[in-house]
Amino acid sequence: MDDRPLANINDKALELGAAAAVLIDPADIVINPEFVEMCRPPRCDAFGVGGNCPPHVMSPDEFKELLAGYEHAVVFKIEAPMAMLLEEEHRFEVIKVLQETTAKLERFAIEQGFANARGFAGGSCRRAFCRDEDYCEVIEGSGVCRNPDRARPSLSGVGVNFQLLNRKLDWAESDVGPDGEPLGVMLGVVFLV
Ligand code: SF4
Repeated sequence: MDDRPLANINDKALELGAAAAVLIDPADIVINPEFVEMCRPPRCDAFGVGGNCPPHVMSPDEFKELLAGYEHAVVFKIEAPMAMLLEEEHRFEVIKVLQETTAKLERFAIEQGFANARGFAGGSCRRAFCRDEDYCEVIEGSGVCRNPDRARPSLSGVGVNFQLLNRKLDWAESDVGPDGEPLGVMLGVVFLV
């Protein structure tokens, strides 16, 4: 029986601004290696230009291997108006919040005793944090990320089928905001052991 405060991690995600958070078994996360193909241009121009996206991030097989060592996962969602997510500049701001929230939650989990907590989040850190830079420091510079406390690896970039995960958690249907505007969902996950 794990007596570390798992519920605290969930509560912390909500405190950090998540619209919902749930604790699941990492084995319930479906990894589709072919999903990584969707990261290629023209679908995504972040392919090959950042350390947390393919082909520089770990492969789906390496991710599967990593997950085998984890006991729990806290999945959380950030909601934003769909109109905002469809507009590039605003989408990057939402991704920034999502990645920062994931990094903060990972840090909190480590403080709570989950020493090897690892966070992954939707979107590209290159676009969220380094879009005004000429290059990613990890792949073309010193090898050290400019934003180690903020940027986290891309979930879809390691093959996570986030649409299936959304459906499994019953988060596939968008909520609506206070003015009736449709909301879109982005996911972050912190794995715990
Ligand atoms: S240096 Fe920038 S682009 Fe490279 S991994 Fe870090 S945040 Fe991402």
